[in-house]
Amino acid sequence: METLVKRFRQKDRRALARAITLLENRELSDRAVSELTRGAGKAYRIGITGPPGAGKSTLLDRLAARFKDQGQNPAVIAVDPTSPFTGGAILGDRYRMEESQKRGIFIRSLATRGSLGGLSRATTQVADLLDVFGFDPILIETVGVGQSEVAVHGMVDFFLLLLLPGAGDELQGIKRGIVEMADLIAINKADGERIDLAKSARKDYAQALHLFPPKESGWTPKAVTCSALQKEGIENIWELVLDFQKQTNESGWFKNNRQQQAKNWFYDLLEQGLKRLFFTKKEIAEKLQTIE
Ligand code: GDP
Repeated sequence: METLVKRFRQKDRRALARAITLLENRELSDRAVSELTRGAGKAYRIGITGPPGAGKSTLLDRLAARFKDQGQNPAVIAVDPTSPFTGGAILGDRYRMEESQKRGIFIRSLATRGSLGGLSRATTQVADLLDVFGFDPILIETVGVGQSEVAVHGMVDFFLLLLLPGAGDELQGIKRGIVEMADLIAINKADGERIDLAKSARKDYAQALHLFPPKESGWTPKAVTCSALQKEGIENIWELVLDFQKQTNESGWFKNNRQQQAKNWFYDLLEQGLKRLFFTKKEIAEKLQTIE
């Protein structure tokens, strides 16, 4: 473990990869995790969610490339709660992320067996690892099914919802609450025959966003169209992320939000720990059986 921490601190990418795998498999002690993640919190975190096939990987690829070309050092985490087997997912993501690959951007798929709690814990810890390692920004992708997008929202600074033109929220499996959480809604695949559909979807969402109460961040969520494939609208999205960053930094919301997230995270861990203590106690386990 000492060697791993040492090599990690020396910015050895293989040590980073190893640490992530150990995290995923829950083979790192709490002490090792805190050793490795000490000093995290510098990197900007951007979350992207949306239905399968919306173009999240493609957009992330372009967006990460944009940050890289600007002289930053982005990393991508793809969280897939629907598939417990990473093999295919890793290849799939990498295959689609050619711009990022060309630039040597760090991409990692993440899947953990077990609960959502386990997955979000692993995701936060991996983001912390990447943060300490020196990556910034960190882009986190999750499929918008189940509750994982809510969990990701709780660990990012900026939350982007990517949607397809011409399908209602329900069809896309998007819950109303998610639309409300978004800082930016992008209607992707605004190209070819879908341009008009995308434009009208954008208008609908812009109107819907209007109906929500103002955000605590003071930011007015936007709705835009883009074509990740044709690399259109990427610049605009990138600029909006920067605008948001600037505005929330100046207002102090950024810092407050981080503190709030850390607090929630702390209580989550506390609850998980208490639960574990409770259920693994021998007398409790026996009593529970009788009661059952
Ligand atoms: P994800 O499941 O949300 O990550 O979606 P992907 O990025 O894998 O994209 C799903 C499919 O849609 C792929 O075949 C992409 O090439 C395609 N795609 C992604 N973005 C666009 C776009 O802007 N326009 C069009 N026409 N196709 C796109």
